[in-house]
Amino acid sequence: MNIFSGLEKIVETNYSLAKCTWYGLGGPADYFIRPTNIEQLTEVVNRCNENKIPIYILGFGSNLLISDKGLRAAVIKLETEEFAQIQFDGEQVTAWAGAELAKLVLTCVQKGLSGLEALTGIPGSVGGAVRMNAGGNFGDIGAAVESVTLMDNHGKTFEKCKPELMFDYRNSNITAKFILSARMQLVSAEPEQIMRTIKEIWIYKKNNQPLNTKNSGCIFKNQRGVSAGALIDRAGLKGLQIGGAVVSEKHANFIIAQKDCKSQDVMRLIEAVSQRVKEKFDIELELEIEIWK
Ligand SMILES: Cc1cc2nc3c(=O)[nH]c(=O)nc-3n(C[C@H](O)[C@H](O)[C@H](O)COP(=O)(O)OP(=O)(O)OC[C@H]3O[C@@H](n4cnc5c(N)ncnc54)[C@H](O)[C@@H]3O)c2cc1C
Repeated sequence: MNIFSGLEKIVETNYSLAKCTWYGLGGPADYFIRPTNIEQLTEVVNRCNENKIPIYILGFGSNLLISDKGLRAAVIKLETEEFAQIQFDGEQVTAWAGAELAKLVLTCVQKGLSGLEALTGIPGSVGGAVRMNAGGNFGDIGAAVESVTLMDNHGKTFEKCKPELMFDYRNSNITAKFILSARMQLVSAEPEQIMRTIKEIWIYKKNNQPLNTKNSGCIFKNQRGVSAGALIDRAGLKGLQIGGAVVSEKHANFIIAQKDCKSQDVMRLIEAVSQRVKEKFDIELELEIEIWK
């Protein structure tokens, strides 16, 4: 019997994940599944468990490098209407995992609510951003998050609130498989003032990041205040190229995928950069992006 019988409308097989990542790289997933509601998600999780199919949860693929061979697994994406809701209640906003960060930030501006401006220019979904505690010099999403609704890998939903909920540099203490939604506390402010901050952050990013290229944001984490980009630059690695992957001239912590690039090229370049930085500074760079292989 078909593993996902009755769920054919939301399950695709042998689905190219290159379509789902900012890098535009990655081989096929055995199953690519877009549930339309929580009940369907629970059913999908149960079927995967019964059939011992590993599960990956995908956001907008902006912090991911996926192997050229793809994944012998089910990749689940929460992108349908129910999972992309943004709901306001006074100075609080509840955003579902599949909501787009850019849309969330702009809707908050329209409502005159400040607190998420630091997410300007970060491509991604609310689910991915909460998982990674997305942010940067201007702040991070974790500062605003009050509680999250989660689902474990048995399909059970529950809530986790502050102070039990903690966020760290590009990390959170959320271990549950699925983030379903996040409730954030914002403060009222003049939309023009919020917009000015957003424009400043946007200009900063435009000047410092290779935005019109295929990339996945910063490859490595900054460690103990040391900028990974500065280390890579000082090691003379800007412009280093392997296959179709090249270290950005504009920001050394970005690796750009050029025409015909393969995930394997990016992986080899990551290794080469790590090795050269280790040799020169005796520092082990830690990955910020996630590699699925
Ligand atoms: C041009 C560019 C600039 C960037 N700038 C920044 C920046 O300034 N600061 C920053 O922090 N990041 C930055 N990033 C990286 C990336 O945008 C963020 O990490 C973003 O939050 C990832 O969200 P996503 O939806 O794309 O997640 P994905 O890349 O799809 O997934 C990332 C991780 O989150 C998990 N995940 C996704 N959705 C869920 C969910 N619903 N439940 C549980 N886990 C989930 C995935 O399993 C994976 O582990 C940048 C990326 C690009 C391409």
